[in-house]
Amino acid sequence: MGTFKAVVVDKGDQGYSCGFRSFDDAELMEGDVTVRVTHSTVNYKDGLALTGKAPVVRRFPMIPGIDFAGVVEASSHPDYKPGDPVVLNGWGVGETHLGGYAERARVKGDWLIPLPKGLSAAQAMAIGTAGYTAALAVIALERHGLTPERGPAVVTGAAGGVGSVAIALLAKRGWRVIASTGRPHEADYLRGLGADEIIDRAELTGPGKPLAKERWAAGVDSVGSTTLANVLSMTRYNGAIAACGLAQGMDLPTSVAPFILRGVALLGVDSVMASKERRFEAWALLERDLEPSRLAAITTTIPFDEVIGMGAKILAGEVRGRVVVEIG
Ligand code: NDP
Repeated sequence: MGTFKAVVVDKGDQGYSCGFRSFDDAELMEGDVTVRVTHSTVNYKDGLALTGKAPVVRRFPMIPGIDFAGVVEASSHPDYKPGDPVVLNGWGVGETHLGGYAERARVKGDWLIPLPKGLSAAQAMAIGTAGYTAALAVIALERHGLTPERGPAVVTGAAGGVGSVAIALLAKRGWRVIASTGRPHEADYLRGLGADEIIDRAELTGPGKPLAKERWAAGVDSVGSTTLANVLSMTRYNGAIAACGLAQGMDLPTSVAPFILRGVALLGVDSVMASKERRFEAWALLERDLEPSRLAAITTTIPFDEVIGMGAKILAGEVRGRVVVEIG
């Protein structure tokens, strides 16, 4: 028992607050595994929690951080013993259950997965929930029967976390990748990850037509709104788009035309409550097909003390790739 350093968000008479404070073991929530957190990351949802820009936090006080990697300190779960390296993504951690921006976390062992053997804790968090979601999206497209021979794949929000990992995975798996970005100065970065073509996201953000010229067979969209509507309207016959994000907006102003006239499929991707089986599949794909040099190119590492300021930056679209937070 003892105290540890944590980022804590709270809501009171003064409004929403976020800062570092000493947290006590006794304040941790129920769980059968206690983890010494070594690394966490900054995902878009963490930006929302740190800033209070959207109500993702549903319990106060809350330690944000929707994912972490660390080492088991204590466990009464049959699958884990002290010293085991573990990873956690989602399950409401950082939203309804105290999260990863802390030197210690206590969670249900069923939420954890063992750290994949081929990855360090820092690499697992460089991938983080954004990268694991990109893997779920690629799996969804391929499970739908799509292959690189069917045509190119578009990735929206290309320079962001989901987008960067999606590009690297799709390229490695033989896809021709079209990267849509609002940051043309990141063209070399995106090509380095495996993008074959870069398009200006302005081509997709405006109001579109129900059907437009067919441009791609598949897509990973982390942007939503008119971008997703345009991506659907430009998808080839019997193609599919995996939708996983809302960086532009939660709305989807589209029509049924792509679905009923071109047989296009819209595949929903959720990482938070995904089954253990899907998680293992996604992490195995990442371990196998995400080249370490590309992962390194995607990653920026920051000390724990700088995590709060990253929240506003990721919401402003100023973070390139993925941010690893070194905790302890
Ligand atoms: P990032 O901020 O790293 O990436 C989002 C990217 O979207 C930005 O880098 C930018 O790319 C683009 N973008 C931002 N604002 C706009 C805008 N107004 N219009 C068009 N494009 C925009 O976030 P993450 O990669 O961490 O997350 C991406 C999305 O996926 C978020 O909405 C997040 O909530 C969601 N997500 C969902 C998960 C799930 O389980 N379904 C899990 C993880 C994430 P560029 O600069 O290249 O244009």
